Amino acid sequence: MGDDVPRPADCEYVVVGSGAGGGTVAARLAEAGRRVVLLEAGGDPRATPGPRLPADYDVPAFHAYASENDAMSWNFFVRHYDRDEDQRRDPKYRETWGGRRVDGVLYPRAGTLGGCTAHNAMIMLYPHNADWDGIADLTGDPSWAADRMRAYFERLEDCGHRTAYRWLAKLGLNPTRHGWNGWLRTELAMPPAALGDRPLLGVVRECVGEALGLVGRPLDRLRWLIQGQLDPNDWRLVSEDAVGVRYLPLTTRGHARAGTRERVLDAARRWPDRLRVELNALATRICLDRDNRAVGVEYLAGERLYRAHARPSAAAGERRQVRASREVILAGGAFNTPQLLMLSGIGRPEVLERHGIPVRVALPGVGRNLQDRYEVSVVNRMSFECWGMLAGARFDTADPCYRQWADARAGAYITNGGMLGVITRSAASRPVPDLFCLALLAPFEGYFPGYAARLGDRRNCLTWTILKAHTNNRGGEVTLRSPDPRDPPAVTFRYFEKESDPLGEDLDGVVQGVKLARALTEPLRREGLACEELVPGAGVQSDDEIRQFVRDNAWGHHASCTCPIGREPAGVLDSAFRVHGTRGLRVVDASVFPRIPGFFVASAVYMVGEKAADAILADIVTP
Ligand SMILES: Cc1cc2nc3c(=O)[nH]c(=O)nc-3n(C[C@H](O)[C@H](O)[C@H](O)COP(=O)(O)OP(=O)(O)OC[C@H]3O[C@@H](n4cnc5c(N)ncnc54)[C@H](O)[C@@H]3O)c2cc1C
Repeated sequence: MGDDVPRPADCEYVVVGSGAGGGTVAARLAEAGRRVVLLEAGGDPRATPGPRLPADYDVPAFHAYASENDAMSWNFFVRHYDRDEDQRRDPKYRETWGGRRVDGVLYPRAGTLGGCTAHNAMIMLYPHNADWDGIADLTGDPSWAADRMRAYFERLEDCGHRTAYRWLAKLGLNPTRHGWNGWLRTELAMPPAALGDRPLLGVVRECVGEALGLVGRPLDRLRWLIQGQLDPNDWRLVSEDAVGVRYLPLTTRGHARAGTRERVLDAARRWPDRLRVELNALATRICLDRDNRAVGVEYLAGERLYRAHARPSAAAGERRQVRASREVILAGGAFNTPQLLMLSGIGRPEVLERHGIPVRVALPGVGRNLQDRYEVSVVNRMSFECWGMLAGARFDTADPCYRQWADARAGAYITNGGMLGVITRSAASRPVPDLFCLALLAPFEGYFPGYAARLGDRRNCLTWTILKAHTNNRGGEVTLRSPDPRDPPAVTFRYFEKESDPLGEDLDGVVQGVKLARALTEPLRREGLACEELVPGAGVQSDDEIRQFVRDNAWGHHASCTCPIGREPAGVLDSAFRVHGTRGLRVVDASVFPRIPGFFVASAVYMVGEKAADAILADIVTP
């Protein structure tokens, strides 16, 4: 077997993928003195020539453009339903796009240094404690308990809001349990112009007032307000699963995007002999020896080789291998990690055999258990022409808002367009809050080709995007479309599947979210600030009508759980991220969760990256 041929190792660890999971673990291992090669399929988004770069990467308000930037986007087209007639009811569905058959709904990913942290909306929202305790219970591994997991957040965060508590922390008191010295800066983006925007202030005032009446628990909320000052990540609020209105902390430094790209480049600069970053390196197969020990990774060197790329290359690429003396760590994300496992003979035997791939480890859970949020929007047209804060905004580098951002890191472009969030439960019986209503100053209806440009078309809209978290659906799946590693896998979510959600709680939860968004808008309508509901629109009123609207329009963008921690046959990893049936092989990205955590997933993935580094280092046997 070729993979057994002895060859000197190039490093101790090979990490595949530089996103929230991979970038975090690779940098931490290098910092701990280990020799790491990081393979990343894409290039550096700030160094790649391309229209709108590096601004699309840097400027928070351009994040939607970043997700459609040709230089770095990987466009997956996914199915929400198995049945064509259900799928086609979604206005975002495309049968063809760019001259080829895609048969699905756009699901943007970033194939670039930093992974999806290079194009995401930068919202940093801490998961629920029950998410961590759930993994501790499932595995019997107390290192996953919520109280201990918080230490990873403290380790990675450099909190730039809650200034008074930063000083208190210097005295050894840290009741918020924020991190103050980590590598990932978090900031509050509230431009002073927003405070002079009277309609906007009216919206905030009315919505906050309405939300406070709707989410209940007035005395608790008063206490949470005093303690947390609207900060969603304050440990005291997290510990109580607090509900109410919150601001949106963003992962920015000086109001420019910050993510694993910055972390990785910083680590490589400081320890060039320990961290080697191979860009434009598409991993195609894990090299396994006779005992199913991962000894390296085979990859293709070349730009834009993956066919999900917005401008895929027809070049053949150069086949190479990198050898690891200790371990291989997969962090390609919830779509690509299961694909790479299957391409390497680890997965469901029927799938592998169908594609002529010899089975090395029969592991039926690989690619299954795919989970996501359900999201829909309620879009309102306001009675004025333009939000004061967005006056002059054309979302390009020639407009006055960009100048303000570039010269002073001020103005509308320091925000990601989100103003505030309202956290609540869709039903009193839900064990943790499961609805997040996000107020955006743009008409956002989900992802479809050209969606970014459409956001800037109208500057007088208020969108409530509803995220239904802690969804029950586990029916989704990532599977191979072909044995060619350059072809993206087939992704099917099986929305609102009855088998894992027999009571229809997911669908009803989103319906409650739509009703909440409407209730939040009601005072604005009474005051004449909001004048028309564009989506779902006046024609969608009864519960059944809202249900159908949700089924036809829902989307998600936090795909996870496709290589879950748990026992076989459904589980793929043990509680230390090791792939069952193999040696020296781990997964460290959004696919590791048995259940999708929190409201926004990136914080949990960063934390998992830190935890995995500890687990990997603990396994080093010193002679
Ligand atoms: C449009 C959008 C907005 C989002 N906004 C937010 C937000 O505001 N807040 C939040 O919490 N979450 C957000 N998310 C989700 C979050 O960013 C991702 O879930 C998170 O980054 C996932 O981390 P990961 O490590 O699993 O994968 P990724 O960050 O996707 O990283 C995977 C990396 O692996 C590389 N790769 C894949 N396959 C290979 C291969 N074969 N060889 C080499 N390299 C490979 C990819 O190029 C990529 O760099 C958003 C997601 C999207 C799509």
